[in-house]
Amino acid sequence: MKAIVYKEKNKVTLENIPIPEIKENGAIIKVRGCGLCGSDIVKLKQGLVKEGTVLGHEVVGELNGERVVLGHHVPCFDCVYCKNESYSMCAQFKETNIIPGGFAEYIFVSEKHLKNTVFKVPDEVSDIEASFTEPAACCLRAVKRAGIKPGDNVLVVGLGSIGLIMGQILKYYGANVTGCDLIEKRLEIAKGLGFRTEAIKEADKVFLTAGSNTTVDIAISSVRDGGTILVFASVLSDKVGFPNNEIYYRELTVMGSYSPSPSDLREALDLIAKKIIKVDKLFNVYDMIEIENAINDTISNKIIKAYIVIS
Ligand SMILES: [Zn+2]
Ligand SMILES: [Zn+2]
Repeated sequence: MKAIVYKEKNKVTLENIPIPEIKENGAIIKVRGCGLCGSDIVKLKQGLVKEGTVLGHEVVGELNGERVVLGHHVPCFDCVYCKNESYSMCAQFKETNIIPGGFAEYIFVSEKHLKNTVFKVPDEVSDIEASFTEPAACCLRAVKRAGIKPGDNVLVVGLGSIGLIMGQILKYYGANVTGCDLIEKRLEIAKGLGFRTEAIKEADKVFLTAGSNTTVDIAISSVRDGGTILVFASVLSDKVGFPNNEIYYRELTVMGSYSPSPSDLREALDLIAKKIIKVDKLFNVYDMIEIENAINDTISNKIIKAYIVIS
């Protein structure tokens, strides 16, 4: 089967690799398409994975003639992390994965996946919309963790696909959403989605979807005393940090949110089906053979997000 295979830093190739084997009541899913995630780009640019790895986890595929979306990690629901709803910190969650990865014609999913994280795509939801289930579920989890109340004034820093989805979910939870980004086209899309784009002070909550010293500074100067900063971003340098005394004297809450639970995935798909989350302006479509363009266009911010048709 065809797969996009990681070779070395900043290099992937389209190759023929063996179709994965079925074992222990799992199943083979035929992949229809897969979104290119910011985390795939980080792994690629920083060389965080082994040669031969197939990246991609925002999969829409076919199982027994039905279209499905799936989460790539499955929590155990039983450990101390799961019992405290930190599902993405669960050891089983971290171990489980789809094989070999979403940028391949076929993937193997385990029985655990089938029972918990594989969902039928409603007819009214397109493949591309469905591929946003996992990133939307990440955003949904972040919004829930931050404890948004109706009327909260929330600043979303960074209006890539995550920021633009985050803002839509925040609005659904009743927040007044302001977005900021350096790219004019993204601000236009944000306005079209009903976000404000004027500068804001005294935000009750700030969501960081882009990580750098600059975005940390924006968060600190925009959040009100006693407010919350939610971090949904990785950074390249450990020299990016939060100022201790601002957090202490101003009683700020700084919290992270990482990966979704199975119920977040199901809810996110439902919000997409109901058009509460709209993704139609967020993607560009590429064939497998165009993967390098997809990667470069994403890195250079020419596009917001790439969806790779797998065929
Ligand atoms: Zn992702
Ligand atoms: Zn667990």
